[in-house]
Amino acid sequence: MRVSNFPLSTLKEVPADAEIISHQLMLRAGLIRKLASGMYTWLPLGLRTLRKVEAIIREEMNNAGALELLMPSVQPAELWQESKRWDQYGPELLRFHDRHQREFCYGPTHEEVITDIARRELRSYKQLPVNYYQIQTKFRDEIRPRFGIMRSREFIMKDAYSFHETQECLENTYQRMHQAYTSIFTRLGLAFRAVDADSGSIGGNSSHEFHVLAESGEDAIAFSDSSDYAANIELAPVAYQANTNPGTKLAIEKVATPTEKTIDDVSKALKVEKKQCIKMLIVKAEDQGVIAFALRGDHELNPIKAEKIDGVFKPLTMATDAEIESSLSSTPGFIGPLELPCRVIVDYAASVLENFICGANEVGFHFRNANWPDVAKLEKADLRSIQEGDPSPDGQGRIQIKRGIEVGHIFQLGDKYSRELNASVLDQNGKDKIMTMGCYGIGVSRVVAATIEQNYDDQGIIWPLSLAPFQLSLIPINMAKSEMVKSFCEEIYQRLSEKGIEILFDDRNLRPGMMFADHELIGIPHRLVVSERGLKAGSLEYKSRTDKDSQNIEVGNIEAFLLNALTLNHLS
Ligand code: ATP
Ligand code: MG
Repeated sequence: MRVSNFPLSTLKEVPADAEIISHQLMLRAGLIRKLASGMYTWLPLGLRTLRKVEAIIREEMNNAGALELLMPSVQPAELWQESKRWDQYGPELLRFHDRHQREFCYGPTHEEVITDIARRELRSYKQLPVNYYQIQTKFRDEIRPRFGIMRSREFIMKDAYSFHETQECLENTYQRMHQAYTSIFTRLGLAFRAVDADSGSIGGNSSHEFHVLAESGEDAIAFSDSSDYAANIELAPVAYQANTNPGTKLAIEKVATPTEKTIDDVSKALKVEKKQCIKMLIVKAEDQGVIAFALRGDHELNPIKAEKIDGVFKPLTMATDAEIESSLSSTPGFIGPLELPCRVIVDYAASVLENFICGANEVGFHFRNANWPDVAKLEKADLRSIQEGDPSPDGQGRIQIKRGIEVGHIFQLGDKYSRELNASVLDQNGKDKIMTMGCYGIGVSRVVAATIEQNYDDQGIIWPLSLAPFQLSLIPINMAKSEMVKSFCEEIYQRLSEKGIEILFDDRNLRPGMMFADHELIGIPHRLVVSERGLKAGSLEYKSRTDKDSQNIEVGNIEAFLLNALTLNHLS
């Protein structure tokens, strides 16, 4: 492609509202433009990369035996009413009427539509399993669209849905999708982890998220330093570790802490580490009263775990100061777990503390050397998020924490939708049997942003060859003035294009520095610079996007050199 026919839209300035690097670079390199909040146009340059991501996904899905179809993006309300999600989905679902006042939504996902297809088209167990997929636009009215196309309202998803007669068959397809996703993200050149998303269960296999590791990721992932164990930090269970070496219980003392209300203040004033203090969090209970959580001062309550506890009001809601005063006769800042007149649930780590500091349930006082009257009788629970250095829940190694961007999600749905929509086939005995389903999503557009998060430098994007909008930059120096440069460039452009190399030929006659800056920002992996001086000396200047310096290649060897560089890079 000649730049004269392919206008570049690069920007020098970092756009003010772009917080993360991929968003900044996608705008600066001219891959996307914002239309409205969470809605973006893919410019020709960006679309070339998006299409490459799609092509890799399509190829691997086809290899795994999935069948591509294309469903409408607008969906009738009736199907959502049948699945009961019309009322459950909430404001992320964009709803509207047609001219006949019939209700519709813009599809945020396609379980309903595909289950409707399956119940109409699939008759017999002999046709199963079937795994349908599409690559298509979704709309979710996200509460906080942000980071460009990373969390947008309109985005492109590859969504697949499989149908089975048995759970065993579903598990086979699920494993196949797990492998297909591994191949996809490997081919995309991403550093990723498959993360157990099965709430709480260790080694559970009914849902996995695929995360690209990046500082800007919205999710924190806990993984073992010595096994495959990986889980979302919100879900990773923390095991109970008994105190195998109990110490001597000291005599409890009441100490004055007139102004010290926070763990920070108390630990400073009493000169003890925060992990030796008990922190109390009071939440509403389902029965109108309150429930107290006791945690170590250096630990944070995990709201997802807390909300799952029976009797805790859902959604998890902190009690107000007035509620605390009236139900506990205690004052926030001085609440302690001992003899508190409500249900007290103690985090595992807090339950093994000895000689700790805690509120004395009296304004202006804390206890020093407090101990649990009877550890065995405490109501203990896993209340905190796992931390770096904790033992891995699978018993192997210690936990490390990194941030991740969720790019894919595979899920064993079971019969949730097929039962509601009565999607059945005839089994071996000629009887109706409700099908079992799996679903498998990839955020196609998000993958583009996630790839940039892992591949950039101060100059701009560094595309892996498989996703680069162009593979080679052809940059002539002073072409307007040099017939020699012009004819050489035209010829090599022709020859290499015929070999299938995607070239961005910068025929703009700009200063070299400006052209270099644009091509580096765009992230084209290979660059060939053609100058009259070089040609006269019989050489051309080549640089890969990741090299610091360029190298001179003999004119006669250039074609072989480039073909080699492009193929080698391709394989790596
Ligand atoms: P998230 O937790 O990020 O909101 P989700 O659980 O809602 O994701 P799924 O319903 O599993 O996501 O959708 C499948 C994939 O679609 C996700 O793994 C993600 O890569 C992508 N995706 C979801 N929401 C968005 C969005 N708002 N913008 C871009 N991609 C998205
Ligand atoms: Mg979501």
